[in-house]
Order: sequence, then structure tokens, then C-alpha cells
Amino acid sequence: MPRAVVTGGAGFLGSHLVDRLLAEGYEVIVLDNLITGSVENIVHLAGNERFRFIKQDVTEYLYIDGAVDIVFHFASPASPVDFVTKPIQILKVNALGTHKTLGLAKAKGARYVLASTSEVYGDPLVHPQTEDYTGNVNPVGVRGAYDEGKRFAEAMTIAYHRHHALDTRIVRIFNTFGERMRLDDGRMIPNFIGQALRGEPITVYGDGRQTRSLCYVSDLIEGIWRLAQLPDYHEPVNIGNPDERTVIEIAQLIKSLAQSSSEIVFRPLFSPDEPRRRKPDITRARQLLGWEPQVSIEEGLRRTIDYFRARLSSP
Ligand code: UDP
Repeated sequence: MPRAVVTGGAGFLGSHLVDRLLAEGYEVIVLDNLITGSVENIVHLAGNERFRFIKQDVTEYLYIDGAVDIVFHFASPASPVDFVTKPIQILKVNALGTHKTLGLAKAKGARYVLASTSEVYGDPLVHPQTEDYTGNVNPVGVRGAYDEGKRFAEAMTIAYHRHHALDTRIVRIFNTFGERMRLDDGRMIPNFIGQALRGEPITVYGDGRQTRSLCYVSDLIEGIWRLAQLPDYHEPVNIGNPDERTVIEIAQLIKSLAQSSSEIVFRPLFSPDEPRRRKPDITRARQLLGWEPQVSIEEGLRRTIDYFRARLSSP
């Protein structure tokens, strides 16, 4: 039976990936220190004999018994609020944690998949963003810890490939949403849905004309799964939905889908150097993986709103 290690496996994306790996017949070991992940995301797996959870900070030495076929490094706080409250943990998990997990993969002769991010492009001067665009990042800006942490993680990953011939993959994940996001994580989608469902003002930051392109979680996991299967490809691959919308459009859409009477209000930008526009060029994923998103933003939002509604109404 193939065996996978997933760091951050109790988080939003990590836990969906774990579900997929179990469904594909893997034995899965999750490492997570739960600073942003939650056991609620994996509690449904308790009792599954192919699943094991180890509460561990992956910046420390990692010891795993027995064979490992693939390591997914998905641990990292990822909300702009975390960039302000947890900058050192972010830098550590992406620097030391990437080093430790690469070392584990090397020791086990395992394939390695790094969860990278569209944030490596910073506030992009190329639109849409192609993988060969090298980015526009302010290292000492508020988002610097995450952006530079992930850029370092990519550099470390490709160095292990070139220097140690490790079988690595780098996935650049664009804005993704869906069930198991934390309602209080401070990101746009949980904020807007929580506010719409509670009848509170929906807080649009800045003028709301900045754009994001939102991918529903099941599409993202499918793309990552296909990339993980692809033999012998080590360059970064964008995975995201190119359906670009302004933040104000997204606020209006959520208000309407949630049938909310909330007003939409404007607040100052959370961080002044946040990206003005973001949209993945997914030509590479289309050609290499035959992948493209299947779930519309409207359908994804309906499912996510149902999920948050159920959580808000449970005690
Ligand atoms: N945003 C907003 N209101 C909120 C939270 C976020 O207008 O309550 C905006 C934010 O300024 C950004 C976009 O929504 O332009 C996406 O923010 P998110 O926190 O999801 O992450 P980012 O894509 O910036 O990393």
C-alpha cells in the first residue's frame, strides 16, 4: 500500500488532500502542530486504520517509521491576518520546515510536493501570471514573511532536485475556497460569508476594484493530485481558476447567494502592498495535466455558504 506524509494535514487544503489520498488507497500520516489547523477537519477519519495523526511542529526533526512514497508539505499559516500575527512561524515552517520535510523525502527516497503560492508573484506586473514570471515582492512589506518564505521554499525544493536528484513537484496555489476554511481566519471569503449570514456589514477593503480569481477546493485538489502523479516534471505549475472578479463583485455575489440584507461597506486596505490583480495563466496545467476547473464560483460559493450556515447554527 502506498504511504503518504502530509504536513498541515489538519488544515483547510491539507485535510481535503488527505481525504483524496485515502480514497485513492493510500496510508496517510498527518503532521500538524494545529496553530491554524483543526482536529475538526480530520475527526471523521478517527478509527480509519490507514490514517494516523501526529501533533508535531515540522520545523523540528521528523522521525517517521517505515517506508514513505510521497511527502506533501502543506503546513503554513496562509491568511493575510496570519502574515501580521505569525510572521516568524510562517518563515520557520517555510524555511526550516521545508528543509526538514525535504530531508525526510530524501531519506525515504520519496517523491516531494511543495504547496507554493501565487504570492511568489507579489503584486504582479505581468497579467495573467505565467510560471516564468519572477514576481514583484517587497521583502520587508507586511506580506514579506509569507511571500519570501514561499520563495525560499521553492528555491530549497528545486535545489534538492538539482543537487540530490530528489523527485520534486512545486504547485503554485491561487486563491482557493470551500468547506473547512476557518470562519475567523480573516480572509475575504470567510469574512464575507460570515458577515452576510450574520447580517453584519460586509467589509470591502480599499476601493474593492482589486481582483482575485477564486478556485473551488475540489478543483484544486484534482489539479494537485494529477501533478503528483505526473512523472518527471519539476518546474512550478499554477493551479487556480482564471475566472477573475473584482472584490466588490465577489461581495455582491455572496450577499445575493446568501440572500442577505447586509450592507456593503468600505474599509482601509489591510495591507498597502497587497496585489491589485491576480489571475493564473493555467496553460501549463491544461497541457501537462489535461486539467481545468469544473466548478463555477457561484456553485462553489453555494456549497461554502451552506457549510458555514450549518456551522453557525450548530451550538
Ligand atoms: N478583502 C476584503 N474584505 C475582507 C477581507 C479581504 O475586501 O474582509 C479583500 C482583500 O483586501 C483582498 C481580497 O479581499 O483584496 C482577498 O483577500 P484574502 O484575505 O482572501 O487574501 P489575499 O488574496 O489578499 O492573499
